[in-house]
Amino acid sequence: MIGRADGSLDAAIHREIEQQLDEQSYLTWFQRVRFEQLGPDRIAVYVPNRFHLTYLRHRHFQTLGDAIEAVSDLEEPRIEFRVDRAEESPAPSEDDEFPAADLGELPEAIPLNPNYMFEHFVTGPSNRLAHAAAVAVANAPGTTYNPLFIHGPVGLGKTHLMQAVAHVYKSKGFKKIVYISCAAFTNDFIHAVERNETDRFRQKYRQADALLIDDVQFLASKERTQEEFFHTFNSIYNEQKQIFLTSDCSPAEIEGLGERLESRFKLGLVADLGPPTFETRVAILKRKGRTLNMEIPNDVAEFVGRRIRDNVREIEGALMRLHTLVSIERRPLDLPNVEHSLADILDEHQPRIDMPRIQQAILDHYDVKASDLHSKKRSRSIVVPRQVAMFLARRHTSLSLGEIGDYFGGRDHSTVLHSIDKITKAVDTDPRIKSAVDAVERSIR
Ligand code: ADP
Ligand code: MG
Repeated sequence: MIGRADGSLDAAIHREIEQQLDEQSYLTWFQRVRFEQLGPDRIAVYVPNRFHLTYLRHRHFQTLGDAIEAVSDLEEPRIEFRVDRAEESPAPSEDDEFPAADLGELPEAIPLNPNYMFEHFVTGPSNRLAHAAAVAVANAPGTTYNPLFIHGPVGLGKTHLMQAVAHVYKSKGFKKIVYISCAAFTNDFIHAVERNETDRFRQKYRQADALLIDDVQFLASKERTQEEFFHTFNSIYNEQKQIFLTSDCSPAEIEGLGERLESRFKLGLVADLGPPTFETRVAILKRKGRTLNMEIPNDVAEFVGRRIRDNVREIEGALMRLHTLVSIERRPLDLPNVEHSLADILDEHQPRIDMPRIQQAILDHYDVKASDLHSKKRSRSIVVPRQVAMFLARRHTSLSLGEIGDYFGGRDHSTVLHSIDKITKAVDTDPRIKSAVDAVERSIR
């Protein structure tokens, strides 16, 4: 088989690989690859760019080797990767040399906020994946998830996680951490173009030990910057240095983001951050309170956690008010004072959730009668709805355990606590309970 110069070797290897891979992988990674015989046991693999080369080497080397062996009868073919100059995009190639003396300074580092470390980040179901991924990337740069792409609405901790990673890199002694907002990257690029200094611009970004770029949604519809970003990305990626990006939306939702950037953003791990759950909001409040030397009573933390829902930054705003209340106005941290001092920032659109409202939603969802809920009956078909009602009462109203017990036919405080405990656990372990709780919650809102 060896010695064919007419391209049939190329076709044969392609056919072989096509059979080994799923269609998407084949199209993405091999369609634009060419094979050529160089010598008796040498085969050149031409790839469109260096990024492609790295990816093939890491992910598809085995497939490639097997396919070449299968069609060439060679036991151990020598495979040589080459970037196909004919294919390479018109932008400057990554291995253009710049004189070392001519390096631009790295962008002025954004000072890291000492509060934005991992130890100050409260985890919960809505941010666990993003947090775990950031920790992995901090501990093993360039090898676990590359790039790491975290997205979510404003105020949920994207910048916090990014800086936490930067803190770790700093403590590891990384010299050239590029941590910058995408807007600053864009401005820097525009200036470089104006001053005819794009070479220096490139070199300074491409020497980074790690590239952390915040708010990449800013790239939307900025073609020139995207182009530049693309090459920066490829060159850092090829060096197996860590790339970490955040955005307020997923790669696919960034408008006017070219397909090639979108596919690169998805190469590693894309993780989203959601609004914190009630328990996480309460934990954040208590934890942050402690850093201000405030011990926030449970009822106050739960009250704030119920009324401020979707944004951690707002929780922090509320906390600052509480701090003022205690340290300047010197008033006790109790519910009436807190409600008064937060009156204008509490979620006003939220319907008032009270016991009758919760009860009605329970009756609608489970086929039970109100009188059963209040009765002493203990059959499962009644106990579960009653427990869910107590759980939701605790979560959505400011009633005490005793008051909730009174509402349900004079049950004592420990029964209520037991019920809440049961449902709290069941929500994580029993999908039927979880979906019932979700459904009832939707209807009470
Ligand atoms: P984003 O970049 O997503 O808009 P930030 O990272 O700036 O959000 O977070 C806003 C504020 O909320 C910061 O002060 C951050 O410390 C805090 N924060 C967000 N999520 C958490 C969390 N899970 N634990 C502790 N603090 C958090
Ligand atoms: Mg941010």
